[in-house]
Amino acid sequence: MSNPTNAPKISKSDAEWREQLTPEQYRILREHGTERAFTGPYWNSFDKGLYRCAACDEALFVSDTKFDAGCGWPSYFEPVKPDAVTEHRDTAFGMVRTEIRCANCGGHLGHVFPDGPKPTGLRYCINGHSMVFEPLK
Ligand SMILES: [Zn+2]
Repeated sequence: MSNPTNAPKISKSDAEWREQLTPEQYRILREHGTERAFTGPYWNSFDKGLYRCAACDEALFVSDTKFDAGCGWPSYFEPVKPDAVTEHRDTAFGMVRTEIRCANCGGHLGHVFPDGPKPTGLRYCINGHSMVFEPLK
């Protein structure tokens, strides 16, 4: 399933998102914010389960791909499926980075860097507040 325009499938007004999300979730998901390292949820959690988008409940990452990057944010070497997230060029703060968004709702999740472990060599560095963890039953 390809989505060449990168357009999110869900579109809501800012007022609707603001009503649905906590202030911290809104700041990150809708305003491209970043939680401070080591302050958000999940960065040091290695329980088995599924990480879902806090805005639309779409499955994003599984605990089996999570690793300890030591950076203070939950980090994964790949998304749960390739089209779960979309990539966007981000030149904020004088850096060229690849921003990661939820493919379903367009919510900002974090960034991907080319310094991750095998098998992908990628590090998806994600704001914990942009996700909700569902423990494996
Ligand atoms: Zn989403």
